[in-house]
Amino acid sequence: AKAMGRGCYAFFDVELDQRNHRLMQIKHGLRQALARDEMHLVYQPEINLQTGQVFGFEVLMRWHSDELGWVSPAEFIPVAEESDSIADLTRWMLIKACRELLPRLETGMQMAVNISPRQFGGDRWLALIRQCIDEEGLDPTRLCIEITEGALIRDMDQAVVQLSELRKLGVSVAIDDFGTGYSSLSYLKRLPIDYLKIDRTFVADIEQDQDDQAIIRAIINLADSLGISVIAEGVESEAQLDFLKSLDCDIAQGYFFAHPQAIDKIKC
Ligand code: C2E
Ligand code: CA
Ligand code: CA
Ligand code: CA
Repeated sequence: AKAMGRGCYAFFDVELDQRNHRLMQIKHGLRQALARDEMHLVYQPEINLQTGQVFGFEVLMRWHSDELGWVSPAEFIPVAEESDSIADLTRWMLIKACRELLPRLETGMQMAVNISPRQFGGDRWLALIRQCIDEEGLDPTRLCIEITEGALIRDMDQAVVQLSELRKLGVSVAIDDFGTGYSSLSYLKRLPIDYLKIDRTFVADIEQDQDDQAIIRAIINLADSLGISVIAEGVESEAQLDFLKSLDCDIAQGYFFAHPQAIDKIKC
């Protein structure tokens, strides 16, 4: 039993070592990724369910590393947040999206970008947005910032200041992954928020799961009474779409409409 115990430890150590090694490789690789031109942007349309027209595009990062191959943002963004590479990546992403996406958007379409919760505390990203307005011809009313609930709740007073600043500029704000984080909804009243993005885990089983139906219905009613629009994420089937339409959901996004695609593949 003793030998087995020791063996178990050795087994876990190997797994832990492998994971740490991978994280180190990602951390190291990220430092050179921009200089080596390994980062790309893809764009996924959001569809206005009333008109069927494209409402806007979400900007998503892709990394093809020389050493590691394709690395998902779900894996590298958290590492970038820990190591401060996130500030450089966000700067690159926003400027690049201004240059390649904005000229292709039709009147009224918006560009939605993700801001990491870790960055939200600082004010560099606000300066970056101002820079894009001044130097990249960004019309602020076309920009939507996506941020998760956690970042807002951690320091509510700061969030009020920063979001009001965005509001003054004309930039709109979406709460990303809505429904996954917090039970307190009082912040919705205090903060200037334009959109709630319903997390795709609620959409996935919408046809079978009555709890998920109830949650989505509740979110849509709540948003409606607060004057906030709802965007459903992760719509993969026509049945899901029909259900969302029947609940008067405003906007939807997902593989059913289009996968995130490179700039030369998108259809406006
Ligand atoms: P997110 O902001 O919730 O982005 C939506 C994710 O859902 C994207 O994954 C998208 O490709 C995926 N998706 C879209 N439609 C469907 C669908 O119908 N079914 C399924 N199963 N998935 C769908 P992606 O591109 O892998 O990004 C993962 C996460 O990485 C994002 O989640 C976001 O949190 C983060 N991320 C990506 N790009 C950036 C960025 O430029 N900056 C920051 N800070 N985070 C980013
Ligand atoms: Ca997002
Ligand atoms: Ca999301
Ligand atoms: Ca469920």
